[in-house]
Amino acid sequence: MKNLPEYFGSLVFNDSVMKARLPKETYISLKKTIDEGARLDIGVANVVANAMKDWACEKGATHFTHWFQPMTGVTAEKHDSFISPTSDGKVIMEFSGKELVRGEPDASSFPSGGLRATFEARGYTAWDPTSFAFIKGNTLCIPTAFCSYGGEALDKKTPLLRSMEALSKQAMRILKLFGSDSGVTCVRTSVGPEQEYFLIDRTMYEKRKDLIYTGRTLFGAKPPKGQELEDHYFGTIRPRVASFMAELDEELWKLGVFAKTEHNEVAPSQHELAPIYTTTNIATDHNQLMMELMQQIAQKHGLVCLLHEKPFDGVNGSGKHNNWSLATNTGVNLLSPGETPYENAQFLLVLCGVIQAVDDYQDLLRLSVATAGNDHRLGANEAPPAVISVFLGDELTAILKSLEDDSPYAASEKAVLKLGVHVLPKLPKDSTDRNRTSPFAFTGNKFEFRMLGSSNTIACANIMLNAAVAESLRQYADILEKADDFSQALHDLIRKTVKAHKRIIFNGNGYDDAWITEAVEKRGLLNLRTTPDCMPYLLHEKNVALLTSHRIMSEPEIRSRYSIMLENYCKQINIEALTMTDISRKQIIPAVLTYEKELAETVSLKSSLPTKLDASYEFFAVSRLSTLIADIASKTDKLSTELAAINAIDNITELSCAYRDTVLPDMQLLRASADEAESLTAEKYWPYPTYGDLLFGTK
Ligand code: ADP
Ligand code: MG
Repeated sequence: MKNLPEYFGSLVFNDSVMKARLPKETYISLKKTIDEGARLDIGVANVVANAMKDWACEKGATHFTHWFQPMTGVTAEKHDSFISPTSDGKVIMEFSGKELVRGEPDASSFPSGGLRATFEARGYTAWDPTSFAFIKGNTLCIPTAFCSYGGEALDKKTPLLRSMEALSKQAMRILKLFGSDSGVTCVRTSVGPEQEYFLIDRTMYEKRKDLIYTGRTLFGAKPPKGQELEDHYFGTIRPRVASFMAELDEELWKLGVFAKTEHNEVAPSQHELAPIYTTTNIATDHNQLMMELMQQIAQKHGLVCLLHEKPFDGVNGSGKHNNWSLATNTGVNLLSPGETPYENAQFLLVLCGVIQAVDDYQDLLRLSVATAGNDHRLGANEAPPAVISVFLGDELTAILKSLEDDSPYAASEKAVLKLGVHVLPKLPKDSTDRNRTSPFAFTGNKFEFRMLGSSNTIACANIMLNAAVAESLRQYADILEKADDFSQALHDLIRKTVKAHKRIIFNGNGYDDAWITEAVEKRGLLNLRTTPDCMPYLLHEKNVALLTSHRIMSEPEIRSRYSIMLENYCKQINIEALTMTDISRKQIIPAVLTYEKELAETVSLKSSLPTKLDASYEFFAVSRLSTLIADIASKTDKLSTELAAINAIDNITELSCAYRDTVLPDMQLLRASADEAESLTAEKYWPYPTYGDLLFGTK
């Protein structure tokens, strides 16, 4: 095998391939489009398309696809071959600029949340030249945006790109004010998403309908051992898992994904993969690819990769940590504390921008990660809580406090902090403590947003984050651009911001119940535990104003997303409930009945013997199981009846509440009876692998 630097990115039509294969003028003009968003003319597109096709065919590709991210949360592709017939009955391989820049997949089968009447089935995909084309299998994949006939975004990439642009625009205004914009053409957000997942044995997975249909276990008694020994985190990686990881790394590297760190996570069979960060838009594409490859490659190793947020009750769920920062195109990270007072003043202003953004738009950030799956983590006393707060660490918190009070920063230095006038203390690069319980933590030169679910696309969270920060920076720029005395205005602004938004700063233990009480009762922070709790906030005036004023989403686009997210929520729970009733009737009840029969026969056999034997256990077990069977049967029926009844609700908001308030609790009750029956039934009768098998069964 070739060495890594040689094959890294070998399946990507990246900058160096473009440089080598495109005529100089074409390359320059494409670069202008990539870096500055300049319009691409069709002549250039034709040349690029042809070069792409030649390159892809040399690598064995026969097809191309516009690769896009509809609102299903996964990626979509429709493959076309490059072939074009010739007059002599043969074919040549062709790919035109038109085919590269625009596609017309039928949009009628993708969710549109009312944006598109079915008779306007057409949807368009448009090439996103800022994310490189790549080869997957035999297909050249072209990252694209996806929109309706009327131009409304039907995907997650379009608003993401718009949010990046909005943030860049406002951040540039701030840089200008500080005179730090020389040579800078844009500010980009970058993201390094750490991805958690479970790997379980495939033969066991195939015996569990709940995992197959819903991605999580709907039944399952607790195993004798869980994660309490804490022996899995960073533990030795088992051979089959290690070979899965090795292959995954290799495939990701070929696709230019900077897969970096692989380790075991806290729960048994749980793992994590972290890439090195890159521009948000590319990081989003890469994360989608990563999730896709994880699932594919696991299959090859006789494993299944579970990306659900909560596949197992009683052990940790899986999330995704969205490490986020913003940097100029010249490479200056705006969340890096600087060396000089002026740099530090700029850093503190941007920091305030983020703090204010998180406080003002807690609701949007929370709902950007809301799914039925993630509710099991965020709303259920698991990591992190549903209340959003910002962790800054003691040092930064103290600095902000002294700015707020005009008080000396440290007891030893009697200096009063005044930005740009007095010297700021030098901030050590990595002055933050590790706080693993904070949903939004400053970690030295970036923020780590930890509420994302493992199966979420990272697009939504970043759209809202970029939008919110763009808004606070817009407000700051509006004020500072008009100021006569910049230093004084800056100082006042930071002070005012800290005063107004310090309630969102919390450096303590985010899992503590006392914190949740304080957050809600004393600080007035939101605690939106479930998807139906938080989704209505999307339509609040301030949020619609934010997204429309920065041209990130139009009002119809916002409404469509509202209904799609709630529809997904309802559909997910509906499938789960149906799966439960199916498993209950067809697997659990029959299995328990068989064991019951054996027990009952034993009781009667024993009592027919000349010497009476003790049959008290058998008697206890068969009585308890009889009760449980009746219980399971009636709870199953209740669930079925309920599902039929709530189908009549046609308002999506009400429907989502019905699923949450009636279906979910009843699923829980059914599960409790079934799990008790499992714990009393002989293993050989149980119809599918247990928690112990699933969690500890991968050798
Ligand atoms: P951990 O949080 O597990 O200790 P690191 O701090 O090394 O790990 O990095 C976690 C993730 O944050 C990685 O994906 C890394 O690439 C990413 N990261 C580091 N710096 C930045 C940055 N400036 N912007 C965005 N992501 C970053
Ligand atoms: Mg981390």
